Amino acid sequence: MDVIVTHTNTDFDAFAGMLAARRLYPGAVVALSGSLNRNVREFYRLHAEELDVVEPNRLDLDAITRLIVVETLQPERLGDFEGVARREDVEVVVFDHHRGERPDWLAPENLVTSEDGALTTTMVSILAERELEPTPLEATVFALGIHEDTGSLSYPGVGLRDAEALAWCMRHGAQQEMVAQYLHSPLGENERALLDALLAALETHDAGGLDVLLGAVAWPQYVDGVSNLAHKIVDLTDARALVCLVEMEGRVFCVVRTRVAELDAAAIAGGLGGGGHAQAASAVFRGPLEEARGRVLAALPEAIRRGATAGEIMSRPARFVSPDDSVAHAMVLCQRHRQSGIQVGEPGRLVGVVTREDLDKAVGHGLSHAPVKSVMSSEVDTCEESTPLPEVMRLLAASDAGRVPVLRGEEVVGVVTRSDLLRALGEPTAEETAPAGPDLGPRLLEIPRLESVFEAVQAVSDPFEGVYLVGGAVRDVLMGEPSFDVDIAVEGDGIALGRALATALGGRAVPHEKFGTAIVVHPGGRVDVASTRTEFYDYPGALPSVEQASIRQDLYRRDFTINAMAVSVKGEDFGRLVDYFGGLRDLENGVVRVLHTLSFIDDPTRLFRAIRYENRHGFRMDAHTLGLARACVEMELVGELSSARLRDELQALLSEEDVGDSLRRLADLGVDRAIHPHLAAGEEAARVVADLDELRARLAPEAPSWRLRLAVLARRLSSTEILGWSERLRLRRRDAERIADAVTVAPRLVERAAVADEPAALRDIVRPHDPDGALLALAGADGVARERLERYFEELRDVRLEISGGDLAELGLAESPQVGAVLEELLRRKVNGELDGRAAELEAARELLTSSQ
Ligand code: ATP
Repeated sequence: MDVIVTHTNTDFDAFAGMLAARRLYPGAVVALSGSLNRNVREFYRLHAEELDVVEPNRLDLDAITRLIVVETLQPERLGDFEGVARREDVEVVVFDHHRGERPDWLAPENLVTSEDGALTTTMVSILAERELEPTPLEATVFALGIHEDTGSLSYPGVGLRDAEALAWCMRHGAQQEMVAQYLHSPLGENERALLDALLAALETHDAGGLDVLLGAVAWPQYVDGVSNLAHKIVDLTDARALVCLVEMEGRVFCVVRTRVAELDAAAIAGGLGGGGHAQAASAVFRGPLEEARGRVLAALPEAIRRGATAGEIMSRPARFVSPDDSVAHAMVLCQRHRQSGIQVGEPGRLVGVVTREDLDKAVGHGLSHAPVKSVMSSEVDTCEESTPLPEVMRLLAASDAGRVPVLRGEEVVGVVTRSDLLRALGEPTAEETAPAGPDLGPRLLEIPRLESVFEAVQAVSDPFEGVYLVGGAVRDVLMGEPSFDVDIAVEGDGIALGRALATALGGRAVPHEKFGTAIVVHPGGRVDVASTRTEFYDYPGALPSVEQASIRQDLYRRDFTINAMAVSVKGEDFGRLVDYFGGLRDLENGVVRVLHTLSFIDDPTRLFRAIRYENRHGFRMDAHTLGLARACVEMELVGELSSARLRDELQALLSEEDVGDSLRRLADLGVDRAIHPHLAAGEEAARVVADLDELRARLAPEAPSWRLRLAVLARRLSSTEILGWSERLRLRRRDAERIADAVTVAPRLVERAAVADEPAALRDIVRPHDPDGALLALAGADGVARERLERYFEELRDVRLEISGGDLAELGLAESPQVGAVLEELLRRKVNGELDGRAAELEAARELLTSSQ
C-alpha cells in the first residue's frame, strides 16, 4: 500500500502537497499524520468526504510498502509515521522545497527538492506539465497552499513560478471566496489574549545592524497556531525579523519570521533544534523558556547572512568618455557596449554621468557635435565596494542617471546599473539576451530544399516580435546532419504567420486555433508553426494576450539543452543562434543535459528521448541528469505516462538504426521494468536484437524493426499480458497481434522446425508466423532448427507455382473448391522439389485431375 503523509503541523502547503502527490500516485492513500493547523482543520471538516483523506488509526501501518512524504525532510516530524519512515522494508519518497539539505536517512534518488516559495508550486508545475486536471476543490486547496507559504506572493524569495502556479489554480477553478475565508480565520479569545501578551513582551535585539523583535511568554493553556499570531505581529509591527517563544504544556513553541535576506530564520530556529526556510521556521523545544530565549539569542550571530555588496554586483570596467568628447561619440560607445549611459571624466577623476536618453535628445536637437559636458549631470551619487545592496538600491532609486559609480578611494572601479541590481535580485532584466552565438544564416540557406522556405519566412516575419527555427533542426544543422522538419516558433500570433507564409509559398495553412499552431503545406513540403509557450499554460490561447511567452520560456520547456536552441529567421537578425542554456557547448561535448531538476518528473517520456540521443550520437547524460533519470524511475513516476505518448517515444527509440546501447541503458536505469514489470531490455535483449537485426536485413527487410525489437523486449510477457499492455499503449491491433503471436509462437516454432520431416511441412508450420514470429524463432534457434528456418526464408518462402487456376480451367476443371486443393498439392510438391518448371506443373496437374476422376 502507498501512503502519502506530511509533518504533524499540517498547514495548507503541506495539505495541498499531499493532494497533488495523490495525482502522481493515483493509487495512494492520503493520511493525516498529526494535527492540522486550525484553518486547515476547519476546511477539512467541511470537505472531508470529497477530499477522501484517512486518519492514521484507520490504516494498517504494517501494510504500508511505500511512504510518500511531502514538505518535510525530518522523519521525527511525521508523528505516527516516523516508525514507518524508518522501516527498512518501506520505500520512502520525499517532495520538499527546503533548499540545500541532504538527509542521510534517505536515498538521494528518492528525493525531489525545489527552491519554490511553496511546495505546492512545485507540485502544481508537475501537474501542469503532465496536463493533469485538478478538481475545483483541489485547485482551491492548492491556491491556499501557495498563498500561505508565500504570504500571498509577498515573501522574499517568492518567484514568478509561484505567481504562475497560483494563476494556474485560478484558471482551474480555485474559489477566491474560499481562499479568503480560510487563509485568515478569526482569532479565538485565548489567541487574542496570547497575541496581546506577546505584543507586550516584545523586546528588541540587534543582529548585524538589524532589529530583531523577540517575544517570550509562558502560557497556561495550549493555543493552536502560534505561527498565525506571528504573522499578525509582523503585520502590525512591520518587523524585519520576529521570534515568538511560547511555553505551553511543558514545551516551548518557537516561530521565526524574517523579511530580509540578511537574516536566516532557519538558522535561528536551528538553535532550538528546529528548521524551516530562510523566511519562516519553527521549533519545539523541550526545556525552560529562559533557556530557549538564551539559545535563540546565541543563535542570532550565526543567522546573519552577509548580503551582496556593490563590489560584488557591479559591472566592470566602468567606461568613460572625456567631457570634451562629442555627444555622437558617447552615443556610439553606449550603443556598442549596449549601455544605457556612460561615465564622464576618467577613472581617477569622475566629473559626471550621461544617460543614453539625454544623448538621444541632444542628437535630436542637432547637438551631435556638442561636448558631452553640456548634457551630462555632474551631481553623481557614488558608493563604495562594501556598500550593502539595500543602500545601493536606495541610491539607484534616487538616481536620474540610473547608474551608481563604485569608488575605491578616488578611483572608479566599476558601476552598478539597474540591470546589475535586477540580476542580483534574481529578476529578469530587459537586457537579458542570449549570449551571442555563431551566425548560422549561411548554413541555413545552403540546405537545398529549404532556401526558399527560409526566404519566405524572412519576408513575412516583420510584424512579429521574434521568429525562430527551433527543435531538432537546429541541432542537426549544427551537427552537419540532414534534418528537415521545419519547426518555427513565433513570439506572437503563430497562426497569422502561418497564413502569411502559406500565401508566400503558394500553399495552404491548416490552423489549430486552440493551440495557436498552424501547419503550412506547400508544394515543397511542410512547415510547422507554433506560438511560443510557457509552462503553466496548457496552450498559448490561454495566455492573457498581454502576456506573450518569450522564446526563452518556450525553450526552457524543452527536453535537453541540445534541443533548446533556436535560430532567428527574422529579417536582419536572420541566422543568429539563440542559446540560453549552453546547448552548443553540450552538443560539442556530446552531453545530454536536462534544463532543470524536475524535467523527467514533469515528463517521463524524456527518459526515452535521452536514451535515444545517447544511442544515436554516442552522447552521454551528465552525472546530474543521469541521477535525475534514476530518481524518476526509483520513485516510480514513469508508469503514469499517457500511453500514446509512451508508444510514440518507445517506437522512436526502437526505430533507430542500431539500438543496442539503448537496450542496455533502458535496463541499467530500470526503465523497462518501470513501464511493465515483465519487460526485459538489457544485455540479453541487445544480443538477440543484434542477431535479429542481421536476420531481418538479410531475410525479411520489410518487417518493421521497431515491432521485432518490441517483441524481444516483451519476450517474457504472456500473450494476454502483451495484448493488455498493447491496448494501454494504443498500439494498432494488427501490430499487437503480431507481437503477441511472435512471442508465444517463437519457442514452439523452433521445436517444430527441428522435427518437420519435409520442406513443405516446414513451410506450413512457419508461414502463418512470417515474418515476426519466424524471425524471432530464428534468432533464438541453433543447430538443425536454425538451418531449417533459414532455409525457409531463403528457399521456401517465395516458392510460387507458375500455373494458376486459369490453367486448370483450360484442363477442364471448373471453378470449385477442388481448384484450391489441387493448387495446394502442386505447391507442396514444388516446395519439396518434385516439380521443376511450368511443363512439369501442368503435367502433374493433369495427372491429379485424371486420378481424381
Ligand atoms: P528527432 O530527430 O530525434 O526526432 P527532434 O528533436 O526533431 O529529434 P521531435 O520529437 O520532433 O524531435 O521534437 C521536436 C522538438 O520538440 C525537440 O527538439 C524538443 O525541443 C521538443 N520536444 C519534443 N518532445 C519533448 C518532450 N517530451 N519534452 C520537452 N521537449 C520536447
